[in-house]
Amino acid sequence: MNKSKSSLTTFLKKNNYFFLTNEPLKYHTTIGVGGKTSAYILPPSKKLLIDVIKYLKESAIKYRILGRGSNVIPDDDINDVIISISDLNKIEYLSSAIVVDAGVSINKLIPELANHGLSGFEFLSGLPGSIGGALYMNAGAFGREIGDFFESACVIDKYGKKITVKKEDIDFGYRFSSFQKEQYIIITATFNLNKDSKTKIEKRSNAIFNQRIDKQPIECKSAGSVFKKPSNDFSVGYAVEKLGLKGIRFGGAEISKKHAGFIINTGNATQKDIKQLVHFLKVHVREHFGVLLETEVELW
Ligand SMILES: Cc1cc2nc3c(=O)[nH]c(=O)nc-3n(C[C@H](O)[C@H](O)[C@H](O)COP(=O)(O)OP(=O)(O)OC[C@H]3O[C@@H](n4cnc5c(N)ncnc54)[C@H](O)[C@@H]3O)c2cc1C
Repeated sequence: MNKSKSSLTTFLKKNNYFFLTNEPLKYHTTIGVGGKTSAYILPPSKKLLIDVIKYLKESAIKYRILGRGSNVIPDDDINDVIISISDLNKIEYLSSAIVVDAGVSINKLIPELANHGLSGFEFLSGLPGSIGGALYMNAGAFGREIGDFFESACVIDKYGKKITVKKEDIDFGYRFSSFQKEQYIIITATFNLNKDSKTKIEKRSNAIFNQRIDKQPIECKSAGSVFKKPSNDFSVGYAVEKLGLKGIRFGGAEISKKHAGFIINTGNATQKDIKQLVHFLKVHVREHFGVLLETEVELW
């Protein structure tokens, strides 16, 4: 550990942070891939999140923000400082709006919303991310995107300052939000939902969840769809399937036999295996369909 990283350890100990050193990121990503981090920090409060970000910025230490790790595939030699948001977990109910901490797991939130008779997020059922990660990525499924429900957020800006941003400040696009462009760290977000009966909400959530079970390898380790949809009329999964590439393996990484748009970790996959498979798919799809694929997953 270099000097600035050893003074980080002193800062963390002095301020009672929970942190781990040499923690393998593969334990914190849904695809089960990722090498050791120099420090894996779990701020237990918003204040301590802001303080540690300020410290890292002032010390010019590179860090990354991790939600639930369902869209990232880290390198085996990553060695970065990781700030996990998953201990920020409060949900506040304001009539038909909710104020949600960034670390809240979507899969835990969905049944709670049904209990409160709040509808809108059913399309996210079965998505293994956090609210912060979903908003940052503008997660979408079944024709809806989380940005459709966004009202405002409390964020840390690139100077380490806590600010509030409103709907009109943020642009959303396909797997894009201004949170990415502005390098905002989402602390809390407010969404407007609709009132409905618990039974109807649960019925819709279950239907979506069952569709995922039918079509996606959710029983396997993956990071979801590997590639962005290049256009509305081009399905990557269908194209890869047509090329007969389902089940192809590089090391421990395999093109899912259930959904060819997913790469799964069969046991000991590394980022290198996945990168090779990604390259292989890009080359084949370009050659046969003339389509350039862009990754949706983040290769850290
Ligand atoms: C089985 C499976 C199915 C999936 N299905 C879908 C789907 O239908 N639709 C879809 O859009 N995605 C899907 N995904 C991908 C993934 O679940 C989403 O992108 C999700 O929103 C990522 O959330 P996360 O908390 O896991 O983010 P992470 O993977 O932890 O991080 C993703 C990015 O967000 C950033 N980030 C995380 N939290 C914050 C924060 N608080 N502030 C600022 N930046 C932050 C990270 O730095 C990183 O750049 C699927 C994944 C899996 C494994």
